Order: sequence, then structure tokens, then C-alpha cells
Amino acid sequence: MQTQKHGLDALDISSKRVLVRVDFNVPQDAAGAITDDTRIRAALPTIQEILKRGGRPILMSHLGRPKGVDPKLSLEPIAARLSLLLGAPVTRLAASTGAQVEAACAGASGPIVMLENVRFNAGETKGDGALAASYAKLGDVFVNDAFGTSHRDESSVSGVARLLPSAAGRLLEAEIKAFQRVLEKPERPLVAILGGAKISDKLAVIDNLLDRVDCLLIGGGMAYTFLKAQGEKIGTSLCDDTHLDTVREALDKARKRKVEICLPSDHVIAEKFAADAPSKTVVGFIPDGWMALDIGPQTRSLFANRIRSAKTLVWNGPMGVFEMPAFRAGTEAVGRAVAECPGYTVVGGGDSVAAVELLGIADRIRHISTGGGASLELLEGKLLPGIAALKYPV
Ligand code: AMP
Repeated sequence: MQTQKHGLDALDISSKRVLVRVDFNVPQDAAGAITDDTRIRAALPTIQEILKRGGRPILMSHLGRPKGVDPKLSLEPIAARLSLLLGAPVTRLAASTGAQVEAACAGASGPIVMLENVRFNAGETKGDGALAASYAKLGDVFVNDAFGTSHRDESSVSGVARLLPSAAGRLLEAEIKAFQRVLEKPERPLVAILGGAKISDKLAVIDNLLDRVDCLLIGGGMAYTFLKAQGEKIGTSLCDDTHLDTVREALDKARKRKVEICLPSDHVIAEKFAADAPSKTVVGFIPDGWMALDIGPQTRSLFANRIRSAKTLVWNGPMGVFEMPAFRAGTEAVGRAVAECPGYTVVGGGDSVAAVELLGIADRIRHISTGGGASLELLEGKLLPGIAALKYPV
């Protein structure tokens, strides 16, 4: 009996030009030097597999948010770094569409090619169909390995995927599987930790998670809208008054679904938002004129307790203003507990990933997501356009 193949395994890439959308949107310093090449390294398994299976990788990515052609956002330094990491030459082209590019990409046995920044093209971020068709001329098959951009309906992400036989690359596959493991039939208890400042970004996530989790830990600036909605005094802490009703509905839903929601019960507070502001810890209400900038020790220990007993866990967003050392202890305590959690752990979102790296515990997290916006949309329960458009997702 023949077993059905999935994802990249299902795509015939031998002797094919394999157009690969990667996310090489790496940070650079003022002189253009790459300061962190994690995203380039993350795409190596897919590129190496394509080479091994006899395909010719033709790579495409965006870098930054250019408005038209901007030489400062050229992929030239990235092609050079990739070549170094692969130990093979990478030909960087000066454009990503047109006759010269088509000629350079013709033939299944040429060099590895990297197209120029796709966001130099008008229409890329609008998902222009003609632009997608011009990319499709460059490959026989398409692989999406750009998880960080997969929530965008853009020409080089979902547009071209609809026009060629297409599959998820290994990085995208790992991301999809990690979030499936959390969101579909997780081992219980399933604990989610949400933090960060902007509650409006997380309301849809909270709503979706309340259908799935056993326990939701809420810290960071967004916790204070919850506390105010419950009638607590929050001083000058961050609060989004426009969402008080939605937050009350979420608390109601949690009660009905018997989901435990844990909010901070003590806080590290200061009179102003500054790294050198004198701070103190209070239990319960926050006095007038003071703002909470981190969760207090009692909350840290309750959160750590729930985290350590989780069989599946997902964390997005810091517990306080972790960029300032005086307000970092809450995020550190949560990070350490996540590292100690024996269950399946997923961390997503730029700030929580930065916190995990700051703590040096990245190797103790089962899955660190490479996409902030994309991972939030998965947690919202959305189907991402860059995944939905693939013939063979996973
Ligand atoms: P977000 O982009 O919504 O995930 O928020 C991340 C930001 O939230 C970080 O830069 C933190 O400094 C900030 N943050 C976390 N806790 C607080 C807080 N209690 N008050 C103000 N900002 C906070």
C-alpha cells in the first residue's frame, strides 16, 4: 500500500526550479551589517534539502518596509551571508521580475539564485495578481518557508502559491505542527500566558484561547484593563477604557467555561515610566499616581506554579517592562518556570522570544516561533493566507 505524502515530501522537486519564499527580514546596524542571522539559519534545512533532492533553489524575500527601490534595503549582504552559511555560491539578482531575471532563473541546473527585495515592487504588499504571475515564471514549483510573513496576503507569499504546485518548507512545517499541538487536542492541562502592552492586539487571541485552555495567566500592561474591569484601583497603570466591556465578556466566558484566569495580585510600581524611577512592591490596589510596571513576587510564584504543572503551554508577551532591569523580574520568573516546565512549551512574539534569549534558556523551550504577528493570528484561530494557499501545507 502506498502511503500518502505530505508537505515538502509530496512536492516533486528533482530537476526543478524551486521558487522559495523565505523570511530574511534580518536586523541590520546603521552601516547595513547583519546583527542577527537567525532567520537566515532557520531557512537552511529547507534550502539544503532542495539541493540534496536535486532541485535548484530560487530564493525570494522582503527586507524592511521600502517604498519603492531603496538600495539600503538590498538583499546583497544577505545573499553574501547565506553563501557563507551554505558553503556554496549564491547569485544575487538586481531585480525580482523581468526578462533578465527570467533568463538568470532559466534551467534547473544553474546556481542558487536570490532575487532582489520583493517589496521593491509596487503591488507586492497588495497581493497584486500580475506580479504573482511574473514570479511564477521563475520556478516550476513553489515552497513557502516564510512563517513570519504567512499571515499576509502578498504576491510572493499567497499569490504565487496559488499559481504553482506548492508546499510548506521545513521551517513553516515546524511552526504549523507546534501550534497544532497546542491548539488541537493538547495534552492537558493546557496553560496560556499572555502579556505585553496592547490589549487590543490580544482580545481575539483571548477569545479563541478561552475555548481551549484550562488556565490563562495574564500579566504585563494588558492585565490592568482586566483589573479595572473587575473594579480594582489601578492608579495610572496602562488601561484601555474602550475595551472594558469586552474584557468583562471574556471574564464571563471564562467563568462559564470553567477556565481559570489568573491576574496579578501584587505589583512592582513606580511614579513614572522610567528605568531609574524609584519603585516598590504593593499587594492589592495600586495607589493614585503610581503605575504597575511588573508583576510582584506573589504573582510570580502563583504563575510559576501553574506553568510548572502544565502539560502543554504557550507564552506570548512579557509580564512587565522587561527592557528596564528594575521591571524585569516578573518576565524572568515566568521564563525560568517555562524552561522548567516538563510539558510541551511554545514561545511566540518578538518580546517573549527576546526575553527567552536574554535569560539564556532558548534551548530549554520546545518551540520558539519565528513569527510574532503570524503566531498571534494562529492563536486567534485564523487560517493564514500563506498556508491556506498551499497545495501541500503539512
Ligand atoms: P506588545 O507589543 O503589546 O506585546 O507589548 C510589549 C511591550 O509591553 C514591551 O515593550 C513591554 O515593555 C510593555 N509592557 C509590559 N508590561 C507593561 C506594563 N505593566 N506597563 C507598560 N508597558 C508594559
